[in-house]
Amino acid sequence: MIENNAQPVLRGRQFLHTPGPTIIPDRILRAMDRPALDHRGPEFLAIARHCFAGLKRIFRTEHPVTMFPAAGHGAWEAALANVLSPGDRMVIAETGAFSTWWKDMAEALGIEVDSIAGDWRHGADIAAIEAHLAEDRTRAIKAVAVVHNETSTGILSDAAGVRAAIDRVGHPALYLVDTISSLASMDFRMDEWSVDVAIGGSQKGLMLPPGMSFTAIGPKALAASKTSRMPRNYFDWAAVLPDGKTPTLPWTPPEPLIFGLVEALAMLEEEGLDACFRRHARLAEATRRAVGGWGFALNALEVSQASNSVTAIRMPDGHDAEAFRAACLARYNLVLAGGIAKLQGTIFRIGHLGDLNEAMILGTLATIETALAATGVPHQSGGINAAIAYLAED
Ligand code: PLP
Repeated sequence: MIENNAQPVLRGRQFLHTPGPTIIPDRILRAMDRPALDHRGPEFLAIARHCFAGLKRIFRTEHPVTMFPAAGHGAWEAALANVLSPGDRMVIAETGAFSTWWKDMAEALGIEVDSIAGDWRHGADIAAIEAHLAEDRTRAIKAVAVVHNETSTGILSDAAGVRAAIDRVGHPALYLVDTISSLASMDFRMDEWSVDVAIGGSQKGLMLPPGMSFTAIGPKALAASKTSRMPRNYFDWAAVLPDGKTPTLPWTPPEPLIFGLVEALAMLEEEGLDACFRRHARLAEATRRAVGGWGFALNALEVSQASNSVTAIRMPDGHDAEAFRAACLARYNLVLAGGIAKLQGTIFRIGHLGDLNEAMILGTLATIETALAATGVPHQSGGINAAIAYLAED
């Protein structure tokens, strides 16, 4: 018997536009769907070696890239616990919620953090970092940490610019970069930018499920890990990089994620990293055109700092971004991300990273415009037309 359901059933694919987890391509889902292997046997070890080599190309580094089965938070903790000791001082640029959580973690580990203040609407304040390091005449500061793409604000920091500032002052601090939401979606160059520790995650540009974190370890950071006195065990780099060169998987690894990673690397290599960055830039620009067309403001006050992996949009005054997001989900099965911490309710975010094309972003932008009209949020019509015009001309 067919009855009317009180709760409408949502059909079709859910449009997942959080900036991680991102849409997992069917190819990756299929690649993960296979029986387990002996993780110490030759077949699996060859797969792991292939992944470690591919990850170096994604981080643009000649240094080893290690893995921990963990959320990005795990790699954050590992980085701090391996290069610093309790009581050490470090600098973290405040860019938004993620940089704040990284700072909180460092403090919980007994590290003294000098936070370089930010307003959550700009990238890391490079001049302030430089001035702060210049004042550190005794060279007490052991590390500088920056979140390359602050997912919570939709703002990209100039990671190469921070390195240049450290060098101008001639400061020996290690340089740690969180590239969790920029890796494989925006330009990141570990070696060219002399980054000492770079941290990535599986669930963003790499198009995999959450659960795996990646750490690229430069020689200065590796040397620091030999003398660090921070208690650690699971997260000890010596366990995943015993000879300092060849990454290993000393525990039982999450094999499906690694099978998926083989496919993700194949997809990125087929496309080419630079082409992948251009695709992200183009879809992000189409999104920004739509935002301008609606008459809305970006959270980024400098358009040049607006992220190509996630766009954060200010909700018109008097309208709640959370209610708007809830309507998008309930009516149209479209998932947008909300504001975090002090930005909750005032912004909504469109994740546009990973396996995405024009049809997908246009579908999303058109659905947002529909939802704005349906929920009575004042806006100019034509945002979608602006996005279409941009994509058609480019
Ligand atoms: N850093 C950035 C920039 C992020 O976007 C995230 C997660 O979204 C994290 C760190 C934390 O990663 P996880 O949630 O996997 O611990």
